[in-house]
Amino acid sequence: MRAGKAHSMVGGGGETSYATNSRLQEKAILETKPILEEVIGEICRRTLLPKSMVAADLGCSSGPNTLLVVSEVIKTVADQCKKAGRPPPDLQFFLNDLPTNDFNNIFRSLEWFEQKMDKKTFVPYYIAGLPGSFYGRLFPPRSVHFFHSSYCLMWLRQILEGLKSKTGTLLDEGNIYIGETSPPWVVNLYAQEFKNGFSNFLNFRHEELASGGQMVLTFLGSEEKNLSIGDERYIWGLLQDALHDMVSEGLVEREKLYCFKVPMYTPSMAEVKEVIQKGGLFDISRMQYFESNWDPFDDSCDDFVLDNLQSGANVAKCIRAVAEPLISSHFGEGILDELFSRYANNIARHLLKGKAKYHVLVFALKRKG
Ligand code: SAH
Repeated sequence: MRAGKAHSMVGGGGETSYATNSRLQEKAILETKPILEEVIGEICRRTLLPKSMVAADLGCSSGPNTLLVVSEVIKTVADQCKKAGRPPPDLQFFLNDLPTNDFNNIFRSLEWFEQKMDKKTFVPYYIAGLPGSFYGRLFPPRSVHFFHSSYCLMWLRQILEGLKSKTGTLLDEGNIYIGETSPPWVVNLYAQEFKNGFSNFLNFRHEELASGGQMVLTFLGSEEKNLSIGDERYIWGLLQDALHDMVSEGLVEREKLYCFKVPMYTPSMAEVKEVIQKGGLFDISRMQYFESNWDPFDDSCDDFVLDNLQSGANVAKCIRAVAEPLISSHFGEGILDELFSRYANNIARHLLKGKAKYHVLVFALKRKG
């Protein structure tokens, strides 16, 4: 299975849509604002600032976050050019995602966006959609000045070929992701698939970036050594528990469960750094991480969860907006409500152990040469 419909988020603006359930990802965009300012500031201070600047958001999805990124970039270009005492360039902004993304939803909101944009931050801008996988080539050589990507690069290009036996059945039975019973070679397969995909991504972006071009990449990672209670393995492990319960009650076919894998890998900071340095194509100008509570509506820094049932429901909604196409294309739509209701309970139970937090990695990379 290549990246396709199953990798896309739930479209539209309904209750289970990504647009309605993307507060978690919005927080990450806001968290990385200072890095965006730093990087765009550097581009705007360059002696040879192009008259037309090309920027792209890779894996833009469809919803308020898509236009939040665009407006942040426009405002930052305006502010930074003002600081540098030069007129802003024309900004051509490409919104990239898989062809199955709900681009129409974005295009329909552009008129509203234009009305909302502060007229004082005047940067002439042109927005275009660009369907295609960021694991392939997207732009002409040396034509882009800035790439942004948030909450995308942990998605793998495909499910792991190496997990297939000679007869085509999937190995590491019963685990939908790296599970407690997964042997080390399975963990290595996921890690290797991430490394190959990310390395391809870097090669293509290097070809596409103009000299001095930069990228800000934010994605889910894992802690270096400890398996924290917020690790991605629990996110999928708790969904897996719900699926297994449904198998034992005859609501899901065992064979279906045994051939389902989540095409994701959350690397450690060191793993990402290794791929970047081995490729030798980019200088790392920033490398940091932040933590983000599983519950998108929990903004507190305490180490306990106030209402585990409510938080369980919030996390389940957030994951459903992301994983529904993946699950329904494999198991059918019929199981969704039951599955995610059980999942919410499993998360609520898990949160009794303490506050689970995602480990989010941020890299600012500058093209070499
Ligand atoms: N950046 C947005 C969306 C994050 S959700 C935000 O911060 O809210 C992840 C997005 O990555 C989804 O829209 C999904 O369709 C997209 N995606 C996953 N794999 C992709 C690929 N190979 N190429 C392009 N987009 C991809």
